[in-house]
Amino acid sequence: MRASKQSGASAILVINAGSSSIKFALYDASAQSGDRLLDGQISGIGTAAVAADIPDQAGDFGHLPEAADHEAAISWLLWGLGKGGVEIIAAGHRVVHGGPAFSAACLVDLSVEAEIERLIPLARLHNPHNLAAIRAVRALWPDLPQVVCFDTAFHATQPEIATTLALPERLRSAGIRRYGFHGLSYQSVAARLDVALSGGLPQRVIVAHLGNGASLCALREGKSIATTMGFTPLDGLIMGTRPGLTDPGVLLYLLEEQGMSVQQVSRLLQKESGLAGLSGIGADMRVLEASTEPSARFAIDAFCYRIVREAGSLAAALGGLDAFVFTGGIGENSEGVRAKVMDGLAWLGAKPDAAANNARAGREPSLISAAGSPLPVYVVRTDEEGIIAAETARLAGSD
Ligand code: ADP
Repeated sequence: MRASKQSGASAILVINAGSSSIKFALYDASAQSGDRLLDGQISGIGTAAVAADIPDQAGDFGHLPEAADHEAAISWLLWGLGKGGVEIIAAGHRVVHGGPAFSAACLVDLSVEAEIERLIPLARLHNPHNLAAIRAVRALWPDLPQVVCFDTAFHATQPEIATTLALPERLRSAGIRRYGFHGLSYQSVAARLDVALSGGLPQRVIVAHLGNGASLCALREGKSIATTMGFTPLDGLIMGTRPGLTDPGVLLYLLEEQGMSVQQVSRLLQKESGLAGLSGIGADMRVLEASTEPSARFAIDAFCYRIVREAGSLAAALGGLDAFVFTGGIGENSEGVRAKVMDGLAWLGAKPDAAANNARAGREPSLISAAGSPLPVYVVRTDEEGIIAAETARLAGSD
C-alpha cells in the first residue's frame, strides 16, 4: 500500500482483478504526467484470509465482509472509493485475454462486455474476474467511461508464422493459436527504455518478464514479433507454479495411463509445478534463494536454463540481438537470477558488470552490463497500471 499525495483531485481508477486478488490504483487525471495518487489491494479473495491493504485517504471503507468472493470484494472496494474525496472520471481494467478480436485497448460497451464473456473459455482463471469488475463498476456508476486493456493485444503485431500452431485447419480457424501475454508489461518496458536511451529503443530486443508468471518477448523496432507464452499463459518458461513448455505427450500419459482427471491435470499445471514443483518448497524466489536445500538450487538453475534456451530461440527469430532487458518481480530484484542468465547469454555478447547488477534497481532503467559489452543488458521497472491509466485517459478523452 502506498499513498504519495492527498486526495481531492480528479482521478482515473485502474483495476487489476486477478484470481485471488484485486489491485487498484488512482492516477491524477488532471496532470500531464498522470501521477499515481495511491494504490492498494484486496488479497486472499475466496479464502478465509481475505484482507485489504488500502491507504486511509482512499475512501471510507468499513469492515471487509468475511470470506468475500470477487463480487463482494469489488462492490466493497467501489463503495469505499466512491465515498472518498476523489472524483473518479474513468476506470481502466486489465483484461488478460482479448482473443483474436481485440488488438488494442478500447472503450467498454455492452458488445465489448459480451465479447470478453465469450472469451472466458480461453482464460477461465482470469477473464471472469476482469468481467466481474467491469460489471460492478457499471452497476454502481452506469455513466462512468470504462476502458479495457488486454494482455494479449501488444502481440497482435506478430506474423502469422509465429502465432500458428501446426494443427488441422478446423482447429486453427476456431482461434486455436498462440496469443502471448504480459503485453501491458512489454508495452511499458519498451516505452520506458525508448525514452531513457539517447538513441531510442534498439532494433532487436528481448524483454524477460520474470514474476510469478514469466515470459520472454522478442521486439523488433518496438513491436512484438514472438513470445514464449502461447494459447494460454501455461507455455514457455518455468514459472512460480506452472511448468511452462512441457511435451503434450506427458499430459496424454497422465490422462490415459495414470488415470488423472482433467481437473487434477489442470491443478498440476496451474498450481503444483514450476519452481514450487521442482523445489518442493514453494514458488517464492526470495525463499528459494535463501534456502540451502539442493532442490531449491536446482529449481533456480532450471529456471535460468530455460530462460537462456528460450532467449536463443527468440534471438534466432530476431536474426540477432541488440539488447536484453529484465523486468517483473524477479527480473527487477534478483541479482542472482540475472547473473546466471547473463552467464548463459555470454555467447550472444552479454558481459555483466557485477557492481551494477548488484545495485538496487531504481525507478529509471539501469544498465547492468559492462562498458563495451557487445550485448547491453538493462533492468527496467515495469508499470502495467501506468499503461492502463494512460490508455484510459486517451480513450476516455481526459488528456
Ligand atoms: P506477479 O507475476 O504475481 O505480478 P511479481 O512480478 O510481483 O509477480 O513477482 C513475484 C516474484 O518476484 C516472486 O517469486 C518473488 O519472490 C520475486 N521477488 C520479489 N522481490 C524479490 C527479491 N528481492 N529477490 C528475489 N526475488 C524477488
